Order: sequence, then C-alpha cells, then structure tokens
Amino acid sequence: MLLFKRTVHIEDHIKKNPGATIAFVPTMGALHEGHLSLIRAAKEVSDLVVVSIFVNPTQFNDPSDFEKYPVTTGRDVHLLSQSPCDILFLPDVPQIYPQGPSAPHTRYELGSLDTVLEGRFRPGHFQGVCRVMDRLLHIVNPHWVLMGQKDYQQCMVVARLLQLLGLRTRLQVCPTLREPEGLAMSSRNLRLTDTERKKANVIYRALKSIDEQLSPGEITHLIADASRLIEEAGLRPDYLVVADADDLQEVMHWDGKQRLVALAAAFMHEVRLIDNLVLHEAR
Ligand code: AMP
Repeated sequence: MLLFKRTVHIEDHIKKNPGATIAFVPTMGALHEGHLSLIRAAKEVSDLVVVSIFVNPTQFNDPSDFEKYPVTTGRDVHLLSQSPCDILFLPDVPQIYPQGPSAPHTRYELGSLDTVLEGRFRPGHFQGVCRVMDRLLHIVNPHWVLMGQKDYQQCMVVARLLQLLGLRTRLQVCPTLREPEGLAMSSRNLRLTDTERKKANVIYRALKSIDEQLSPGEITHLIADASRLIEEAGLRPDYLVVADADDLQEVMHWDGKQRLVALAAAFMHEVRLIDNLVLHEAR
C-alpha cells in the first residue's frame, strides 16, 4: 500500500496510471468493519482502491463533536495495509483547504436535502460534506465512489453533487454493517461504554419494529411507539421518521406501494448516533 500526505503527490501518481480504473472510499478514519466492507467492494469493481482518511472540520456543526471525534491513525494504517487498499490518502487541513476552512466557498444547490433530517438538525453539515467531496473527487478522479447506506441522506447528497459537478464518477451504495445485536457500526461507537452500546441497540430495534408492523394506511402510531422505545432506553431522539426512500419527504400515510425508509438520529448521552432501514426490502 502506498501512503500519500500531499495532494500533488497523489495527483501525480494517479496521472501515471491512466489506464487503471479507480474506486474511492472516503472516510474520517477510526476504521471498523463497515469501512473495510466498502474497501473490499471497491476492489471488486476496480483495479486501484484509494482510501482517504480526513476528519473534515467543515462538516461538523458542533465543535465539541469535532474535537472528540476518535482518531486512531496508527491502527487504521495497519488495518488498511492488510486490506485491498492500494493507496491511502492522509491529507492535513491545508492540503484540502489551502485558503483555510473558513474561506468563502461555493454554495451547493441541494434543494430540500439540505434542510430535512440531518440537514435540519446539523445546519451546514451537507455543505461541508460537499466541499470536502468536491475537493477529494477532483484529486482522485475515480470511476467509482463507494459509500455506506448507514449515511442514507449523505449518499443522496453525494449523488446530487456528482450531477451538479458533471463528473464521470458513479456512486455505489453498500449495505450497513451492524454489531451482532443490531447497532450500526460507527466510529462514534468508540465513545460509548459497553453499557451505552448495549442500550444503543434500541435504535435498530425501533427501526425494525416499524418495518415489522408496517401496513398500508396511517403509520404515525408506529413511529410514536418506536420513538417511545428509544426514549425509554435513555436515548434522546433528534428525529425518527418514515420518509419516501427517493426524496426523503416525510410519509404519515402509506399507500402500500411507495418505497419507504425509516431514519433515526438519537443521542446516547453526548454521542449522536444515526441509522436507517429501507422498509419491506427483504419481503
Ligand atoms: P465515516 O468515516 O463515518 O465518514 O464513513 C466513511 C464511509 O463509511 C461512509 O460512506 C459511511 O457511510 C461508511 N460507513 C460508516 N459506517 C458504516 C457501516 N456500519 N456499514 C457500512 N458503511 C459504513
């Protein structure tokens, strides 16, 4: 595995391999099996797998969340060296934001994606995601970018960004990897104690309960029951909604046909966790 810290070096290297297909897996590090599953999927669609690790300051609306974001770089490099990753890009902030993260920047037209769910509770978050992805995609110039369904809305935002930028890159969304009792794997889980992790499984149970009881008609009672489950376990939900799987508009009455996704964000103490489930997917 090659490791590059400087943008010019990785750009040079990629230019020297014009025939290779490139799959790109952007991450913020503190790697877990979920990340590694994306890297394995990346190797299946391409010759070269490029992974980036960059904790992007512009996508954090909460400064303490940024400061406490887990950093395990030594361990990450070791895990990657044993994975199908060919190139690790490990830039620092000036490599990604030469003018500084607070410099004036493009505003990306994301429509309602910018204002619902994560967009509503984390103002500016998706603009920050677009800024870093715009920069990384232009550096790596991949044929594929692989992302996890765990960040459902983020996948929609990146699909929109690819359209806005008119890039050749295609997005592959990969399934969410979970702990045995259902908790979605996440770097932020490192900030939870064992007891908190156990409690946090309730998010998946709540989403599952909606899936299992869903039938055509009014569905608000299912959502209220699932929210209560989460609250009773001691978590504080930001939201729990059922939405149209294609545009994330909230749905309260199901016609039995519309493709739906249930999405949740909840705090376990000060750690914010998100998860989602596409409903009736396996039926
Ligand atoms: P992050 O490092 O959290 O920014 O995540 C980097 C990529 O890994 C994103 O595309 C995430 O959606 C994806 N990812 C994070 N957690 C999981 C998971 N549990 N299963 C699959 N993909 C994931």
